[in-house]
Amino acid sequence: MLLVGAGFAGIYLLDRLRDEGFKVKTHEAASGLGGIWHWNCYPGARVDSKADYYQFALKDVWHDWDWSERFPGWEEMRAYFRHLDRKLDLSRDICFSTWVRAARFDEAERLWLVESETVDGTKVETRAKFFVVCCGHGFVPYIPKFAGLDAFTGACYHTAQWPQKGVSMAGQRVGVIGTGASGIQVAQEAAKVARSLTLFQRTPAMCLPMRQRTLDAADNRRLRETLADSLKARENSYGGVDFDFDPRLAVDVSARDRDALFESLWSRGGLDYWLANFADSLSDPRANAYVYEFWRDKVCARIQDPTVAELLAPTIAPHPFGTRRVALEQTYYDLFNERHVELVDIQTNPIDEITTQGVRTRNTEFEFDLLVIATGFDSVTGGLTQIDIRGADGTSLEDKWSTGVRTYQGICTAGFPNLLFTYGPQAPTAFCNGPTSAEYQGECIVDCLRSLRDKQITRFEARIEEEKRWGELCRQLATPTLFDQANSWYMGANIPGKHREMLMFTGGLPLYLEELRKSHAAGYQDYLLD
Ligand code: FAD
Repeated sequence: MLLVGAGFAGIYLLDRLRDEGFKVKTHEAASGLGGIWHWNCYPGARVDSKADYYQFALKDVWHDWDWSERFPGWEEMRAYFRHLDRKLDLSRDICFSTWVRAARFDEAERLWLVESETVDGTKVETRAKFFVVCCGHGFVPYIPKFAGLDAFTGACYHTAQWPQKGVSMAGQRVGVIGTGASGIQVAQEAAKVARSLTLFQRTPAMCLPMRQRTLDAADNRRLRETLADSLKARENSYGGVDFDFDPRLAVDVSARDRDALFESLWSRGGLDYWLANFADSLSDPRANAYVYEFWRDKVCARIQDPTVAELLAPTIAPHPFGTRRVALEQTYYDLFNERHVELVDIQTNPIDEITTQGVRTRNTEFEFDLLVIATGFDSVTGGLTQIDIRGADGTSLEDKWSTGVRTYQGICTAGFPNLLFTYGPQAPTAFCNGPTSAEYQGECIVDCLRSLRDKQITRFEARIEEEKRWGELCRQLATPTLFDQANSWYMGANIPGKHREMLMFTGGLPLYLEELRKSHAAGYQDYLLD
């Protein structure tokens, strides 16, 4: 069996499948473990989920691990992955710096023929009964086609391609294009040391207060007292976290009760104001407007210049609150009160070109020493389609999905026997805490592979009619939500030409797992088995 990727999902499967007696190898493009925490080593890269639940329950690896912060940075995540390696002895079965380029299913042999390439250009061919791609949802950086980008003579990096040895921003004139989660994180660090910082904003991010704090040994001891239960409870929450939406409707409660919940979520910090808010906050425009207004008042109170405040938190919401990825901030809204920080609205003053010295917009020319491209990813599908995966009849996955994704249960797709994938389209993915998804979706895949082996089934494939049903279910679940009203990467809308559709299963983790477990209980009769 060949796995791709050594982030949370690939690690979970490697460990569990070995336990079950499968012969497994992993190919990983990075030189180390960690998935996105290997690549995203830009200053300020930090988890937006609390460490309490952004970790494995697997084999109690949490028992002898202490977190130093409530929201760990990338260095600490890397240390955590080294801890996993020591506990689970992972690296012995992982080929690092090995990039999987192509894979095709050989029908006669019922094998996947997989082509990989190592960092020194050596080609490796692997034959595998099952090909399991755990490439995550944010592996392929997206860089818009800016005219002149190659001509820039300063340093220029996408946040996910940041040099591993680091880049100093001290005393530099720094430009950051993009104000999503990564742009905000890097800007907060740049503002501390840079000579000047210019942020180019297309769509204002709706950031929530992180309320970071350090954790000492006593905090960690207290955390561990209830950790086993709270990690287990994650599977019962919508987002695989240790809290859930408030069952009340914002439109039904009094203004006093509404504000009481808003204030309490705001003071808790983290993603709670997004994912523990009223049950109708992401589906009823009136409820969403209450959520937005409260958020806007809090944010505007921190920004001195009313023109800048209007750009960062407009009177009329540019899209419903929470329908684009919500980011956490520590100092973001305060930065704009500092003289060396400037916000450029590229809706009204678009970027015309990148020059040798910096950025030319319609109205102004800016000079930079360092240009940070924080424009996100070809999310959710990009990691899968960057590999030239060809199914039983030679069709490529990229072609199959060019008019929209089609999967069954978010783990496989018709025409591609014995191919499985994790944290991809039509699964909870970006609406589910990463480690929770790795463990629970991962365990469903382990159940499936074990069952196939026990029944001596060598060919496993999604049925077209079930795939259609799953697509319809995904659409039905997404229809009552407000997500369609934002041009987000959730909708594939950040990539020119990409089919616009909700890429995730929006029914929440419990419903998703119920569906997968039903298939297991029924002996996978909803699949084509041979
Ligand atoms: P990844 O961690 O993305 O790992 C995938 C691995 O596959 C990578 O190591 C990659 O190198 C490898 N790979 C991909 N293609 C190939 C190939 N062709 N050949 C070889 N190797 C390949 N989630 C949260 O729940 N909370 C957060 O706060 C959070 N913050 C995030 C911040 C950023 C900047 C990003 C990009 C994502 C964030 N996520 C967050 C989502 C995150 O992806 C998951 O939390 C988690 O990392 C998913 O694990 P994974 O193993 O599925 O994927």
